[in-house]
Amino acid sequence: MSQLQEELVVLRERLALHDTDRQATTTQLQNQVENLKEKLISQAQEVSRLRSELGGTDVEKHRDRLMVENEQLRQELRRCEVQLQELRAQPAVPCEGCEHSQESSQLRDKLSQLQLEVAENRGMLSELNLEVQQKTDRLAEVELRLKDCLAEKAQEEERLSRRLRDSHETIASLRAQSPPVKYVIKTVEVESSKTKQALSESQTRNQHLQEQVAMQRQVLKEMEQQLQSSHQQTAQLRAQIAMYEAELERAHGQMLEEMQSLEEDKNRAIEEAFARAQVEMKAVHENLAGVRTNLLTLQPALRTLTNDYNGLKRQVRGFPLLLQEALRSVKAEIGQAIEEVNTNNQELLRKYRRELQLRKKCHNELVRLKGNIRVIARVRPVTKEDGEGPEASNAVTFDPDDDSIIHLLHKGKPVSFELDKVFSPWASQQDVFQEVQALITSCIDGFNVCIFAYGQTGAGKTYTMEGTPDNPGINQRALQLLFSEVQEKACDWQYNITVSAAEIYNEVLRDLLGKEPQEKLEIRLCPDGSGQLYVPGLTEFQVQSVDDINKVFEFGYNNRTTEFTNLNEHSSRSHALLIVTVRGVDCSTGLRTTGKLNLVDLAGSERVGKSGAEGNRLREAQHINRSLSALGDVIAALRSRQGHVPFRNSKLTYLLQDSLSGDSKTLMVVQVSPVEKNTSETLYSLKFAERVRSVELGPGSRRTELGSWSSQEHLEWEPACQTPQPAPRAHSAPGSGTNSRPGSIRRKLQPSGKLRPVPV
Ligand code: ADP
Ligand code: MG
Repeated sequence: MSQLQEELVVLRERLALHDTDRQATTTQLQNQVENLKEKLISQAQEVSRLRSELGGTDVEKHRDRLMVENEQLRQELRRCEVQLQELRAQPAVPCEGCEHSQESSQLRDKLSQLQLEVAENRGMLSELNLEVQQKTDRLAEVELRLKDCLAEKAQEEERLSRRLRDSHETIASLRAQSPPVKYVIKTVEVESSKTKQALSESQTRNQHLQEQVAMQRQVLKEMEQQLQSSHQQTAQLRAQIAMYEAELERAHGQMLEEMQSLEEDKNRAIEEAFARAQVEMKAVHENLAGVRTNLLTLQPALRTLTNDYNGLKRQVRGFPLLLQEALRSVKAEIGQAIEEVNTNNQELLRKYRRELQLRKKCHNELVRLKGNIRVIARVRPVTKEDGEGPEASNAVTFDPDDDSIIHLLHKGKPVSFELDKVFSPWASQQDVFQEVQALITSCIDGFNVCIFAYGQTGAGKTYTMEGTPDNPGINQRALQLLFSEVQEKACDWQYNITVSAAEIYNEVLRDLLGKEPQEKLEIRLCPDGSGQLYVPGLTEFQVQSVDDINKVFEFGYNNRTTEFTNLNEHSSRSHALLIVTVRGVDCSTGLRTTGKLNLVDLAGSERVGKSGAEGNRLREAQHINRSLSALGDVIAALRSRQGHVPFRNSKLTYLLQDSLSGDSKTLMVVQVSPVEKNTSETLYSLKFAERVRSVELGPGSRRTELGSWSSQEHLEWEPACQTPQPAPRAHSAPGSGTNSRPGSIRRKLQPSGKLRPVPV
């Protein structure tokens, strides 16, 4: 029992000890809670202080102030506008209709410009307003964030106080638990085992309480940390607010400055406009006074003018009647005159038609008389190649009144010739072409035409036939003309133009457009029995444009240059032929025509001294001589309408047989060098020309008179030809004492009856 009592005492002591401990702990906890409360309160105070110090109220005040200022500025602007409108209205009234309205309109323009400026400034103001608005918005945002922070803090506070309350409750519950312990102590005395159990339970609870206290401490620590971070946030917010305030201050400053300058501008503009308007007003008033005076002086003049006008009006009223009468008489006169003119015209027309018929008749007669063979001469200009000195002096002159006469001074003696036409050195390619144009067009109608260029080497044959690229001769111009003529007739006729080019060298015919220019070509009779000739293998190119012709010419030229090393020399020793065939079909009747145009650049007609020529050169000269003589013979025979024409005597005449006979047309262009040193050759060329031309028409006498033109006979007839001597039968120039008329020249030449040969 005593043991039990001892134990009970010990337990009691322990319990007391426990109690003391618990009480100490509770007081400690209470103290801590108290502390925390105090801290929370101070924190709340701090927050409210901060709020009152920098919070939204100041910013709001700022904003309000800015808004008020803005409003004031707006009002001022409105006032300015009203003033401006008043000013604009003032000068407009007196200026209306006055001479200085232009100036005033200028002023008005300036005013409107100023208004524009004011509008601009207003725009700037509204921009500034916008800026202020933005800043106010940002302030509101900051306030909102501040409020959020405060709310968070309040929540935190709430949470902490809730925990405090919990802690109080726990303590209260722990206190409430004491009586059962006391009861246990009392009962322990009776039931020690029960007491022991209660003791252990209380120990556990104690343990639990201690844990809770530790947790509370932990919470307290966290709260302290939160408090610290809220402090930091507050500091940041303060810095931001300070920054915004500075920005607001600056914007406000700017706005004030701009307002100031706007105000100044406005005042200045108003003053200027006002001053100008005053000056203008003054001027307008002065003008008005002047106009008034003028009006007073003009009134009498106006009165007289009105009187005049009324008088004129009366006259005009009577004018139509007068006019009608005058018109009637004039019409009658004109009608009479027209009638007279008509009668005259008809008479003239009748006479013209009669003349036309007469002219046609004359022309036909002329053609008949002339025959189809014409001879013209062309004198080339003196060139650099002729050299200088007496040898290169001019020996050819012309008759200014007769373009068919040419005078040559040969070895001091003047000799004259008459041809169908003579072209001086100044005649252009076009002039010459004009002469041959009609011949060429007759080719389209189915006529055969031959144009020969005859003369010594260097006399201008190739120039006349081919010309230069920028000044083409007969060949190219003829084809151009054919193209244009054919084009014109295209609606009724269908034409096909082809060209061939050939050369005759040493009586050998070669194709210049063929693939093998070396090949000798033969002239044959058509197997159809028509008696027509043709050259098998002679290349024909169809041409449709000048480009085509140029290509053909280029091709022929290239062919010749590859074939002969010295083309110039070779060309002067050969006859070059361009044969153009025009075939046409009449679209409506189906009638077919074929015309041939033969353009021949003959070999040089110069004589070669017998002594100087041997071998090839001699052979060439013989061939040239023979063929040119044959040509002369054929032309003479044709012109004198002989029964037999010796076409077969040379390749050239044989080839051209179709184009020389029948109703074919032939033109011989005799080329002449004008210089002294060539007078001998010139003399012979002109003699040849005149002989061809002067052969008498009429079959009987002619045949006996003309005989043959063969080279052999020429050689026999013209001994001077063997050594270049002056022509014995040259006739005198006009004014030289003998009969100088063209007719007599011809008569004088006729008895000789022979043409000059090309002697070897
Ligand atoms: P051919 O063919 O008779 O030997 P060319 O036609 O070659 O003679 O002429 C010899 C030179 O004289 C060439 O340089 C040529 O340009 C020039 N010539 C010929 N006739 C004329 C002319 N009417 N106008 C200008 N130069 C010409
Ligand atoms: Mg030539």
